[in-house]
Amino acid sequence: KRVEVPVSEHGINPALLDDRAVRVVTTLQDAGFTAYIVGGAVRDLLVNRRPKDFDVATDATPEQVKGLFRRAFIIGRRFRIVHVIHGRGRDHEVIEVSTFRAYMDNAAAEQVQGNEKTAKDAIANKSHVVDASGRVLRDNVWGPQIEDAARRDFTINAMYYDPRTQIVVDYHGGLKDIRAQTLRMIGDPETRYREDPVRILRVVRFAAKLGFKLEPKTQKPIRAMASTLANVPASRLFDEMIKLLQTGHALSSLAQLKAQGLDRGVFPILDAVLSQAPEGSEREKFLTLALQDTDRRVGEGKPVAPSFMLACMLWHEVLTRWEANRAQGEPTMPALQLAIDTVFDARIGDISGRGKLATDMREIWMMQPRFERRTGSQPYGLVEQPRFRAGFDFLRLRADLGEVSQDLAEWWEDFSLGNEEEREALIEAAR
Ligand code: ATP
Ligand code: MG
Repeated sequence: KRVEVPVSEHGINPALLDDRAVRVVTTLQDAGFTAYIVGGAVRDLLVNRRPKDFDVATDATPEQVKGLFRRAFIIGRRFRIVHVIHGRGRDHEVIEVSTFRAYMDNAAAEQVQGNEKTAKDAIANKSHVVDASGRVLRDNVWGPQIEDAARRDFTINAMYYDPRTQIVVDYHGGLKDIRAQTLRMIGDPETRYREDPVRILRVVRFAAKLGFKLEPKTQKPIRAMASTLANVPASRLFDEMIKLLQTGHALSSLAQLKAQGLDRGVFPILDAVLSQAPEGSEREKFLTLALQDTDRRVGEGKPVAPSFMLACMLWHEVLTRWEANRAQGEPTMPALQLAIDTVFDARIGDISGRGKLATDMREIWMMQPRFERRTGSQPYGLVEQPRFRAGFDFLRLRADLGEVSQDLAEWWEDFSLGNEEEREALIEAAR
């Protein structure tokens, strides 16, 4: 049932809106299309938070959308969507515009599939393909707004906001669930988790981010369905893990994962962390400190680098292997290189497109022994490294944990800020 909620009832503060997202909506409307801000942005507006990004839904096709904007690109294999770009460089902004899509349950999907001669045809021809486990691989069939709402995951993620009329369109009682601080799956939860197991991780993320509770039927199948996450491509799982850690609620996300029994056997990286950092250990404190630091940074609107977080998470496994390699007679630096290679192979695997991330992690780790060398020209070389700041922040975390002395961290703080004379004096003092 379509419910139109006026501003007097939902109370969205228009000051939280992004001008450019509003302009995308009004441009589409002026061209005769239906268009709304949709999904996570509406949810965030309703809990009075400024959305970090804005998605737009419309009845215009991707080609029609593209035609209305100067800088717009049709992207995506899984979903064909349009990126409308504003601004340049660091503060450029992307508004994602997607066309209303049909909701198909597995039976409908199989029918579409059945009409194609081969699976390859089905894939080439667009539409909706499910794999043997019932996981939806593609869905690009356009449909009415009511179906677009039904294919979304949670009721609070399925609302539409028209910035012109300030009306919220709600088909699934999302507003009521926002008020009750409840995450409720649209449709039959088990079926919906089976269609896309990543929804299991999304519910965890939103629970942690919003502090909402899970409606019992939404919660119930999770533990039993966790094994279906094994069918999800590693790169999508990896992205999802990064999102869990970067929402500004990394600690509570981890607690939620534990509460839902998802902390082991889902993410190889998390497995590594937890096996190296038993509950109550010093190492667990390191992880807690690192995540707290991340959460604080996100809270202050500062950027967090996934490479830094991952370097923290995998550090103790690197350390253990480094020590083992040295015990075998390998010199310090090669022993560390080797340890890093082993950990990458075991925990990150050959996820393509992660070259930069892996390079950054490696640099953070490789800097650590160099911080212990404070003679001659070595400190000058280190402080000039482009990634010095990340390496130093990492050193400071280690110092907070007692892995290295606080004096060492302070020395480097002073050295990095010092002028020529002060630096000379510091090197003299370190002898
Ligand atoms: P965030 O604040 O993290 O961006 P979001 O809700 O905007 O949260 P997105 O991944 O940006 O999440 O997705 C946008 C919208 O698309 C969601 O609000 C939801 O309506 C829909 N959606 C995204 N992923 C799924 C999914 N796996 N299953 C069903 N609907 C989804
Ligand atoms: Mg979003």
